[in-house]
Amino acid sequence: MADVAHERHGVPLEAYELTRRDHASQKSSDQIRDAVNKQAEKWQAEEEADPELREQRYAHRKKALEMLGAFKNPDHQIMRWRVRLYCGHIVETKRHCTMVNPRMHGSSSMRCPDCGKDPSAIVAYEPLGLVAELANPRNPSTQAPKSNRLTRTQLEQRIAALEGENARLKTAQGS
Ligand SMILES: [Zn+2]
Repeated sequence: MADVAHERHGVPLEAYELTRRDHASQKSSDQIRDAVNKQAEKWQAEEEADPELREQRYAHRKKALEMLGAFKNPDHQIMRWRVRLYCGHIVETKRHCTMVNPRMHGSSSMRCPDCGKDPSAIVAYEPLGLVAELANPRNPSTQAPKSNRLTRTQLEQRIAALEGENARLKTAQGS
């Protein structure tokens, strides 16, 4: 954790003029949202025409959500970020501490909790600190508790397997 240098970009609390890059980023987030909505509409239409397929997909989604719910990163691994959004609102968001900035891994936009714009691109950001600072990182009792929960990687593998199964089901149904 100490090795991660968290970046900052602009000063979220200061006056800010949107750049061409911000507009491009917002546009690309909008396009992704449109594509996702279109896909969801397609799935919905398929499911309306085929209640059995709907049941199968529902079961898979439920399972995937349960697996995600079973996985929670400890607070000392969660970094808080102050971000300025495309819509002009300044809000707080959280990311895993291994991310050097909050725009990584396809999360360059978010739903604005203030005005509801969804998505709203992150245009400036600064790290605020971990949700929970470890009192003494060298003291083993304050380290992350050992648990037999799934690791993130195992979880992702299982979700990928579920998605594969989903795709196979879909193909088997014929479309
Ligand atoms: Zn907003």
